[in-house]
Amino acid sequence: MKKAVLMILLVVAAISLCFGQSVHYNAGTYIGAAQGMGGEVKVEIVFSDSSITSIRILSQKETPSIAGPAIERIPADIVKYQSLGVDSVTGATTTSKAIINAIADAVSKAGGNVAALKAAKVSKEKKQIANIEITADVVVIGAGGAGLAAAVEAKDKGVQKVVLLEKMASIGGTTFISQGLIGAYDSKLAKKLGVKLTYEAMYDNLMNNAKYRLDPVLSEITIRKSGETIDWLQERVKVPFINDIAIGYGPLKMMHMVVGGGIGFQKPFLTLVKELGIDLMLETKATEILLDAKSNVRGVKASKDGNELTILAKAVVVATGGYSNNPVLTAILDPEKEGTMGIGFTGATGDGIIMANNIGAALTHMNHMMFVLKDYEIMTKHNGTSNTANVSRFIAAPNCILVGKDGKRFVDEKSGGYMTQELNSPVFNQMNKDRLGYVWAISDEAALKNLKVSRGLDMEFISAPTPEALAEKMGLDPSALAKTIADYNEYAKAGFDKEFKRTQLATMGAPYVAVSVMPCEIITYGGVARNRKTEVLRADGNVIPGLYVAGEAGGNSAYMGFTLSNAFTWGRIAGANAAEFIK
Ligand SMILES: Cc1cc2nc3c(=O)[nH]c(=O)nc-3n(C[C@H](O)[C@H](O)[C@H](O)COP(=O)(O)OP(=O)(O)OC[C@H]3O[C@@H](n4cnc5c(N)ncnc54)[C@H](O)[C@@H]3O)c2cc1C
Repeated sequence: MKKAVLMILLVVAAISLCFGQSVHYNAGTYIGAAQGMGGEVKVEIVFSDSSITSIRILSQKETPSIAGPAIERIPADIVKYQSLGVDSVTGATTTSKAIINAIADAVSKAGGNVAALKAAKVSKEKKQIANIEITADVVVIGAGGAGLAAAVEAKDKGVQKVVLLEKMASIGGTTFISQGLIGAYDSKLAKKLGVKLTYEAMYDNLMNNAKYRLDPVLSEITIRKSGETIDWLQERVKVPFINDIAIGYGPLKMMHMVVGGGIGFQKPFLTLVKELGIDLMLETKATEILLDAKSNVRGVKASKDGNELTILAKAVVVATGGYSNNPVLTAILDPEKEGTMGIGFTGATGDGIIMANNIGAALTHMNHMMFVLKDYEIMTKHNGTSNTANVSRFIAAPNCILVGKDGKRFVDEKSGGYMTQELNSPVFNQMNKDRLGYVWAISDEAALKNLKVSRGLDMEFISAPTPEALAEKMGLDPSALAKTIADYNEYAKAGFDKEFKRTQLATMGAPYVAVSVMPCEIITYGGVARNRKTEVLRADGNVIPGLYVAGEAGGNSAYMGFTLSNAFTWGRIAGANAAEFIK
């Protein structure tokens, strides 16, 4: 009954708003706030007694390369349409919603009717695209690192018309949200700084990190060209680098650092795209790769503003990134990872892998990906993000252990680090054994205090004075967990873990703390099968003429520390070979 009354009131409010009645604010300037992806979004709004006159974003900590269009568009649309029912910006849904909610907060403070304003109609004219069929020389799908490199290289090799499709409202993909740390040796910067590394050392380091689960031939190319890739980024694209090289992802001084991290790529690439006359089409999603009767590439189908486009071209480069944000595809390709959630770039949904596979491309290494342990409850029940569900410091506590439903440990928790397959594969195995979407991480309050670890969203970890009481709260067998913790403490005191050979050991004591954790996908290493010219291969080993793949969509030739290098290097290779192919 109450619901029905509320519904009627909402409808009446919405109708009266549509007819210009009952819109009333207490005129003045108000501040509103709401939670975004990276923290609080704060807005300042000026109201007259009948309208929203202006909106200013006062502060926000959103990801710059993704949030930009939302910050620009949402306030302008709300003022234009006098409605909170405006569309979110593609790929920036959380930021869009945060801005709308912050504005709603201010509307409410100004005495406005938020529900009615949300229901107020936004009558946007549908954009009709004049030319539904476009002809190009080369189409590049995806404007992340690999796609941008491919488009620039194709232009530099003399291709006249390069169309670069990007489904998001801004370019950059994972590349622009990355830390901008690029593994390379023998670059001009390395030579200037006197940093000398051999190819053999680089190869061993990469392969050792990846446990040799990479294509050796393709990985050799990634490494051999890594220095040249840095030189190209510095000299051709004008990406600014810090005048130093850091040690990272192993013992080598190989990490070249972009000033400001991944966002440091944005300005130089945007400038170059414009300068070279690359036809960049934003908010244009490729949906299909077209073949002719002889199975040669003929172009791409795409959708923009509800219109279907056909872009005819002799060569197509697939540079759509990985599939870390497509748990459904992950579970199809690697069923033991069912239940994982994505925390990578929102656009990393494996579109190119699906499109290429649909026309006969083989896929390879599809069970090779990187996971990060996250707070299960925050991820699954509170719509968590990589930030709010962060438990990496909890897992890094020197005395942290992991247990399954039986209250027993199942792995050396310090093997390989919290992002590696050595740790995450056994976690998935345990989850499958337990038929649960999580395992338990346990430490103690002293360690968390020492490391200044707190839980996201102001939530508390499970805490108890004894292992038995902790187990009760977790729903585990108290005596089993008490024995696990007692045994573990014995190993820590003796300096030898006779069960799992863990070498980094520290005892734990009361009060004990626990949190359920799940592995979430962040980077994928498998992708479309290809040869050293990065031509796409069918399962019979034949190429699909005119089709190239680069970056995470191709995968298989990089691992931690080398994935940016991989995207730019193979993007350039794809662009150059596509240019050669269409001659
Ligand atoms: C948080 C984070 C930090 C990282 N930090 C580092 C680091 O410091 N160093 C490192 O080496 N690696 C790092 N990585 C990994 C690295 O950034 C990626 O592997 C690399 O950027 C991938 O480049 P890409 O060009 O293949 O894909 P992306 O950069 O993701 O570009 C793919 C683009 O294709 C677009 N797209 C997808 N589907 C379509 C479609 N159907 N139509 C049109 N466009 C489409 C996407 O929107 C996206 O813009 C990091 C990854 C993450 C998630």
